[in-house]
Order: sequence, then structure tokens, then C-alpha cells
Amino acid sequence: MKLLLFDVDQTLLKSSRGHRAAFEQGFLEAYGVEFSMEGLELGGMTDREIIVELMRVARVPERVIQSRLDQCIRFMEHRYAEMLKADDLEVLPGVVGLLEALNSHPEVLMGLVTGNLETIAWGKVRKVGLAKYFKLGGFGGEDVVRSHLVENAIQRAVRHHGFSVANNVYVFGDTPRDIDAGHAARAIVVAVASGHYSKADLKRAGADWVIESMAEKEKIFDILDLKN
Ligand SMILES: [Mg+2]
Repeated sequence: MKLLLFDVDQTLLKSSRGHRAAFEQGFLEAYGVEFSMEGLELGGMTDREIIVELMRVARVPERVIQSRLDQCIRFMEHRYAEMLKADDLEVLPGVVGLLEALNSHPEVLMGLVTGNLETIAWGKVRKVGLAKYFKLGGFGGEDVVRSHLVENAIQRAVRHHGFSVANNVYVFGDTPRDIDAGHAARAIVVAVASGHYSKADLKRAGADWVIESMAEKEKIFDILDLKN
């Protein structure tokens, strides 16, 4: 069995405005801080990490950041649930066809590894009809270290889905952070240039494989050594 772990933002879907709005609401409600995320490039960071880093920038004392962190996460989840219906989610080219083809393969188990908080991640993929492909995940409320999310997902595959690790874990992501996290968790990384990073950037960052988009179905099946 192969375990395929997919990042969400800029790998499966375009980044959404609603998610940022949920952060800003969370900052306001948990910390009383007005903080605009306009223009910030935070691709590949976990949501937990983003809260901590930005509240440091806003000069919130460390003790306060930590003591209200879980509260901020809950506020964000509530706010995003309210906004989900109106959020501008868009599935990236090739994603549906690829997931459908992989899903019909008996040797493939698919999950998410995303910096998104768990309810936000599932909310997004459910809204666009992709949730049915994913059996498990590692999520951005669990840790500030992205590689730990990959390890969490692998453990869940082992514990609940009869998966055994033998150089058969693949991480799909669009940023150097996805690449580093995948490698730290001993996964093979397929980087996709559908976000802010070019193929050259991703190659330089050490990806095992680099693709232009998820529309390269044949190439992805070759990489995974699967019959299409
Ligand atoms: Mg991403």
C-alpha cells in the first residue's frame, strides 16, 4: 500500500480569502489585536505557527500568546464555519481527475497534510466535493512543526488503516516547507509548481520530483509506479 499525503492550499485548492479573515477575527477575539494579513506570504506554515509568529510581531507577550492559543484556534474555527459558505474556494486544474483515478487504485490510501486547522481543512475539501478521497490527515492545529503533522498522518494510517511504512509515503505540496517537512518525516516529496514557487525553486529546495500541475496525471502515476 502507498500512502499519499496532500497539502491543501495551492496544491489542491487556491488559497481562500475566508481563511485569512478567520485568522484576523481570531486575533481580535483572542488577543484584542487588529492585524492585517494583507500581502503576507505564509505558504507552508501551520496555522498554529502563524498565530504564534504574527502575535509576536504584534508584540503580544509570549505568556499571553501561549495561554490564549487554543482559544484563538477555536475562535478561528467558528468564524471560518460561518464564512465557509461564502468563501471563494477553487479547485486547481487536474486535481479532480487525478484524485478520482488514484482513488480507484486498491493499493492507494490518501490523506491530507496541511497547515490548516482540522475543521477548516475538512470544511474546504467537503465544500468542493473532495473530502471523500481522504481517509485521514495531519493538521495545523496539532503542532507548530510541519514535519510532525506528516508523522501524525503516517501514525494514523498505521493505527487505523493497516498501513506499514516501507519507503512508500509520498507528500504532495507546493512550498519548500512542504519539502522539508516531508523529508524530515522520511517521505518522498512530489512538489507542484501551482503556488508561489516555480519548478526551479522547488528543485533547488530539494524536492524528489517536481511537476507543473496536478494535470500531469501520467507523470504522477509514473512517479508513484502505478498503472494508470
Ligand atoms: Mg500549500
